[in-house]
Amino acid sequence: MGKITRRALLSGAAQAAAAGTLLGHAPARATARAVAPAAAGTPACDLDRYVIWDAHGHLYSADTPPAEQMASLLRAADRMHIERVVVFMGYPWVYDPEPDEVRRQNDQVLEAIESSDGRALGFVYLNPKHTQESLDELDRCVRDGPMVGIKLWVSIRCHDPCLDPIAVRAAELNAPILQHTWSKITGNLPGESMAEDVAALAARNPATTFIAAHAGGDWETGIRAIRGTPNVTAEICGGDPTAGIVEMAVRELGAQRVIYGSDFRGRSFASQLAKVVGADIPEESKRLILAGNLQRMLAR
Ligand SMILES: [Zn+2]
Repeated sequence: MGKITRRALLSGAAQAAAAGTLLGHAPARATARAVAPAAAGTPACDLDRYVIWDAHGHLYSADTPPAEQMASLLRAADRMHIERVVVFMGYPWVYDPEPDEVRRQNDQVLEAIESSDGRALGFVYLNPKHTQESLDELDRCVRDGPMVGIKLWVSIRCHDPCLDPIAVRAAELNAPILQHTWSKITGNLPGESMAEDVAALAARNPATTFIAAHAGGDWETGIRAIRGTPNVTAEICGGDPTAGIVEMAVRELGAQRVIYGSDFRGRSFASQLAKVVGADIPEESKRLILAGNLQRMLAR
């Protein structure tokens, strides 16, 4: 850290100009946004002042051994001061995998996390269309294995009653369920859940902890959709680092219901961390979002 980048320099200079300091006099009245960042040449944020756990990441290759993929991910995580990463789903990605394929992919993740010196946490990938096989796989990887949560993707919309037995077992095992959520203007995949689908499942299963990944994609509607179900936390990964997402999530849900994730390697650590460290929210809220909330969730 501490390296002066062109971007930091330019952004510092622009802010100093906006605040009037380049002309050698302090502004009579500055807005909070104009005075918040540091002076020219100083990076706007030192990530090493935070503990950072990344709640959302993936393996990325069918050909590279999982341990090698993990080593590469951790090298990148080190550069951004990310202490721990959550990993789920193997490779290749299959929209509606059969139980055998699900097991094969979870084996890849098991191999990856075992090679991580405790820095990677695994969530078991399930296809809830196959309810009994999902319960068996949950037992194999979480009850009898090292994994600590559940990942559901796009095989079936999660408001379907066939998910209820999985939600019940998840609560018994204290395993949070992370569900991909997105609302696409071009139309969703047939089994792709939206934030309101998680809200419906969570309302039927109040003892289970849910994470709405991507905050619904279309986050302004997604955050509102989960507002009334306190057992759903918004996770902010994916998409561009649009200003306002974390501010709105904190305002509508409270900082305790917002979690940082990146969706690596589909998205960069830096672009997704920027949503949190650049947000106009209290430092204490940033600490909860970057690690505290996930730590509390998994400590159970
Ligand atoms: Zn993802």
